[in-house]
Amino acid sequence: MKKLLIDHSEIELAEELRRYDLQKYRVGQIYKWLNDGVDFAEMTNLPKVLREKLSEEYRAVGATIVKSARSKDGTVKFLFSLGDGNLIEGVLMKYKYGYTMCVSTQVGCRMGCAFCASGIDGLLRNLSPGEMLSEVICANAYLRSFGSDERVGNVVLMGSGEPLDNYENVTKFIRLLSAGQGIGQRGVSLSTCGIVPNIRRLADDGFSVTLCISLHAPTDEKRLGIMPAARAYKIGDIISAAEYYFKKSGRRVVFEYAMMRDFNISTADAETLRKLTRGFPSHINLIPLNETGSKLVGVNKKEADVFLKKLISLGASVTIRRSLGDDIEGACGQLKRKYAKDYNGGSNDG
Ligand code: SAH
Repeated sequence: MKKLLIDHSEIELAEELRRYDLQKYRVGQIYKWLNDGVDFAEMTNLPKVLREKLSEEYRAVGATIVKSARSKDGTVKFLFSLGDGNLIEGVLMKYKYGYTMCVSTQVGCRMGCAFCASGIDGLLRNLSPGEMLSEVICANAYLRSFGSDERVGNVVLMGSGEPLDNYENVTKFIRLLSAGQGIGQRGVSLSTCGIVPNIRRLADDGFSVTLCISLHAPTDEKRLGIMPAARAYKIGDIISAAEYYFKKSGRRVVFEYAMMRDFNISTADAETLRKLTRGFPSHINLIPLNETGSKLVGVNKKEADVFLKKLISLGASVTIRRSLGDDIEGACGQLKRKYAKDYNGGSNDG
């Protein structure tokens, strides 16, 4: 497989292309094209010979859109193909303050959470930094193709994969995102099932992205029933690592909590959850479980409201995540599975 140039920072790119003996502005031109998702043949301000040489040795594009589905609420779900033919998903969401792209960080996932469709086939491989960047670049190209002059302003690492199980590539992606796409760490949220040592490492490496932790249950015992990672990382250690991240970064931590009927939404669950998370500034993000075929069941609006109100009465900062793209298999891993099952090539909108 040819090397992917967009895996590089601009400085690394200059180093990588040193034997071409290019002038500095040429490297800048190439870097810019790469960040616009343009393949070598269309890098029109470069000499043709150079374009040909580059395409013999390298790849410029990390991901291409195979299929896109646009929801009534404006959410766009993408199926991307990678250089080796693997498929991943990304979701573009429109909020009042602009576009947020939900990015996948691995092909599959090895965490095995019972409620999540991404892990059903296990982990196939990590995504490279440039492949993750290409998801954002594709979304921007999609917006451009519809005549929009808006761009992705925020990125959430909440697609398929466990970001902290791919630490080096994910943190490099966060740096590339800032340099190449102008999306700084304030615009990035990283969601993890709670890989404690890497939460601490993220803090020690000086990151200030919004750290989101998938808690989903208030006790280790309950958590073990739905998240195999709970065997290795206990809630107490996750909370201490979250507090450490808060202290180092100054950023409030978000706890994600998927509400499941007869499992984690009792009054006692709310009280335990509140106790766990009250020691330092944090926010609880309640997610109505998206049923993916496991025996876990979601909640109705009334059940969700009762749990929300209980947490509010206990003094928690808490909101329910708005569900977007329900009609287009919005939740993790769902579109890819559907595509594999019944794609007929007909319903592309982009
Ligand atoms: N591996 C990371 C990112 C996963 S996706 C993590 O575990 O946080 C982002 C969020 O969606 C996580 O909180 C994840 O637990 C949640 N999620 C996955 N499947 C879901 C489903 N079927 N319904 C609701 N939330 C789900």
